[in-house]
Amino acid sequence: MTRFALVLFSILSTQILAAQEISYSLKPIKIAENTYVLRGSDKEINTSNGGHIANTGFITTAKCTVVFDTGPSKLYGQELLKVIKNISSKPICLVLNSHFHPDHFLGNAAFEKSSLKALGKTTQQIGRHGEHFRSNYYEALGIWMRDTELTPPSEITKKQFELGGHQLSILPFSGHSGADLVLFDKTTGVLFAGDLVFHNRAPATAHTPGIAWWLNDLEKLKLLNAKTIVPGHGPVTQAETAISSTSTYLTWLDQLMKASATEGLEIMDIIETDIPTHLNNQKMIRYEISRSAIHLYPKYEDAIFE
Ligand SMILES: [Zn+2]
Repeated sequence: MTRFALVLFSILSTQILAAQEISYSLKPIKIAENTYVLRGSDKEINTSNGGHIANTGFITTAKCTVVFDTGPSKLYGQELLKVIKNISSKPICLVLNSHFHPDHFLGNAAFEKSSLKALGKTTQQIGRHGEHFRSNYYEALGIWMRDTELTPPSEITKKQFELGGHQLSILPFSGHSGADLVLFDKTTGVLFAGDLVFHNRAPATAHTPGIAWWLNDLEKLKLLNAKTIVPGHGPVTQAETAISSTSTYLTWLDQLMKASATEGLEIMDIIETDIPTHLNNQKMIRYEISRSAIHLYPKYEDAIFE
């Protein structure tokens, strides 16, 4: 073998090995009757977690299975499908995308296209930003993204229905991304909240129409009197705990930005701000403050001059 062939062989065999070895090793957690969650990592997307940072879940009703979010890649979607098939032999009739962020919907590529549904505005946002997100994820995650084609959902029309013994409601909000779908199962009291709720993990604010909107949505979520919340990120818990984890952080961030803009402080002052001790349990807080400072703070500065 020539030296060139040897190098080529070693590159190819490393890639084949990597392709064989990577797996999300999904472990479903049963959180209520017929209801399961796959917990995402509380870190940034990286080549160890393969982009599985958001929680996904599913409800295995007596008639068919409903999936909530499909994760970051086709491989993830395929592994999620295997997990579901190990638990229920029923078909998958509905696959919901909570919103247009790539950690929640790129796994669509593994599912039947006709089952993929989202809010109307989410379908437009995926049309506009989906390819860009997909190529960013390919760059960051490499082999994990293999064969992940953009597979957009269509608009959901049915909002309240009974399915195999579960009374389900699909509710539209907007505070996190402009179009945020939540799924409430009245039968079990489980609320799949998507990224409207982050639990002990600092919320990402890049596409919020405004923190006031988001806080308003959280107040409405409280009124559902859900028993259990599956947050978009962070551990599953009692509804009140997770909602107040999100609102405590957002209220603090809003006040910090308002006060800083009034004082004429710079973006760097926000990035380097002291974190109060009551927020020490919020994972990724320094990272998310930096992102919010860049995306959100200019709006607060503009508001001062209006
Ligand atoms: Zn999101």
